[in-house]
Amino acid sequence: MGIDLLAAYGRNEPCWCGSRRKYKSCHGNQRPSSQPGAPLPPDREGSRFLSPSTSLATGALGRMMPAGTGITLPADGPEPTAISYTNWEADLGSALDGDGDAMSIESLGGLRVEVLRRLAGLPASEDPPSDQIIQAVYRLAAETVRTVAQLVRQTPRPAMLWNQELDVAQFLGRTLLLADHVLYPDHVFDSLRREPSARQLKEDATSELMNAELLASGIAIPVPAGVAMATQGRAAQELTAGDLKTPELVAWVHSQLIVEGPTAREALFVRAADDLAQDAANFWLHGHIDRGSMDHETGRFKTSMLQPYDPGFDYEPWINQVKNSAIGALVQRTHERIVAADVFGAEYVSASLFEARLLRTRERTARIGPAQAALWADIPELTTMRGPDLAKLLTNEGAIEDLRRQVRAALKTARTDAENIDAITELTHQLEAASLNLQKRSRTDLAWKAVIPGGLSAASMVLGTVTGGLVAASGGALGALATLAPFLGDRMNTRRDAAYLFVAARRGRQ
Ligand SMILES: [Zn+2]
Repeated sequence: MGIDLLAAYGRNEPCWCGSRRKYKSCHGNQRPSSQPGAPLPPDREGSRFLSPSTSLATGALGRMMPAGTGITLPADGPEPTAISYTNWEADLGSALDGDGDAMSIESLGGLRVEVLRRLAGLPASEDPPSDQIIQAVYRLAAETVRTVAQLVRQTPRPAMLWNQELDVAQFLGRTLLLADHVLYPDHVFDSLRREPSARQLKEDATSELMNAELLASGIAIPVPAGVAMATQGRAAQELTAGDLKTPELVAWVHSQLIVEGPTAREALFVRAADDLAQDAANFWLHGHIDRGSMDHETGRFKTSMLQPYDPGFDYEPWINQVKNSAIGALVQRTHERIVAADVFGAEYVSASLFEARLLRTRERTARIGPAQAALWADIPELTTMRGPDLAKLLTNEGAIEDLRRQVRAALKTARTDAENIDAITELTHQLEAASLNLQKRSRTDLAWKAVIPGGLSAASMVLGTVTGGLVAASGGALGALATLAPFLGDRMNTRRDAAYLFVAARRGRQ
C-alpha cells in the first residue's frame, strides 16, 4: 500500500523509487561506499581517483579553482550558496512576460524535434559547434519560454508538472497521466553553458530524441531552467536562508547525511539518505596551506590538495564545515527546483523521498497534491511505458478525462498524505481489475467479429441463428441494426473509460 512519508521504511518492502527491488538492497543501503583512507586503484591516463569508485579528469580541478581563487572564512553554520546563470538566461527572462505572440505548443514541438534531429546529425567531432547551430538552440529556448508563458495565461490553465530527476516517460506514468505538460530542464541548452564539442551536442540531442513523440506533441517541454534562476534565484536563496535558521530542520538534514571519506586523497563525498540520486552530487577537497609560500604583502599563498590521507590528523573540524556546506546545498537545491517550477507556472513534483521529507519537515500542515500522491502510490501498469506508446495513450482524451475525474473523486475524503497515497493506490488497483474485464470482453468481441464474414447483412444471419430465428423473422438487416446498435455503442464507450488506458498500456508493453 502507500507510504507514510515520515515513517521509517520497511527493509523488505518494495523500494519507494519504483525500481521493484527490496528497499534494503536499493535505497535502503545507506553505508558510505568506502572507509576513510581506503586504498585507490591505480590512476588511468588523463584522470586521478578521488575515491575507490570516482575519478576526476586531470585539469578539471584547475578549471574549478583557477589560481587566485579567493578564500573565505567558513561560516559558523550552513549558508545559502551562490546562484549561477548566464547572460543569455538573463536575456531570455524578458521573454517570460511575452506579448502573446507565441508559437502554438504543437508548432514548438515540431520545431524542437527538427532542431534536435539536426544536432543528432552533427559529425562526432571535438570541434565546437558552428555559430548557426548555437543560435538555433538559443532561438528554440526563446520560443519555448514565450510559449510556456502563454500556456500559463490560458484558462482553464493546463495541468503542468515540473520534475528534474526522472525520465519524462517514467514521470508521466508515475504521476498517473495527470499532467497535460511535463516541464524539465533543457539538457541540450544547459550543455551550451559548458562550451561543448559537436560530439557532446550530438549525444545530448540523440538521448533527448528518445522521447521524440512526447516532444513533438508538446507533452514534454524542456525549458532553460537557468532563466528561472536569473529572474527569481534570489527567492530561492531567501527561502534557503530562512530554513537554515530553523534549528529543527537543520538538525534533521544533518541526521540524513551520508559521508564518504576522507578518502586516500583527502576528498569527502556527501549525499542524503533516501535521495533519488545515490551518487554524491558534490565533493570537497582538503586544502593544506603551504606556509612557506605566504606573501605577506598581497596575502597570496599556495594550497596543495589531493594529499595522502593521514590517519593521525584530526579531520573532524573540516568534516563539520563540509557537512554545513552540504546542508546548505541540499536545502537550496530543493528551493531552486520549487522556484523554477513556479516561474514556469508548473507544480513541483519530487521523485526523491529525502526531498519529500524535507518539505514535510519544513511545513507540517501542507498536504501533497494528486500528482505527488500518485508518484508515491503503487501504480504498476503505467510506469514501464515508453515514449511512443505514452504519446499514443494520451490522445485518448475521453479516457484521460475519466481517469482525472476518478482521481479527484478518490481524493475527496482523504485527510492525510498517507490517505491520499492509499486512495490513489486503491483506485489504480480497481482500474486495473476493470481493465482486465474489459480486455476479456474485447477478446470475446474479436472472436465474435471473426465469425462475421462480411457486412451487416451477414451479421443478421449469425444473430438470427443465435437468437433462434427471431431477428431473421423480423426482416433481415433492419432487425439486426436494432439489436446491434446498443451493443456496438457500449464497446465504443469503453475507449472513454479510464480502465481502457490500462488495457492499452498492457498491449503497448507486449
Ligand atoms: Zn530504490
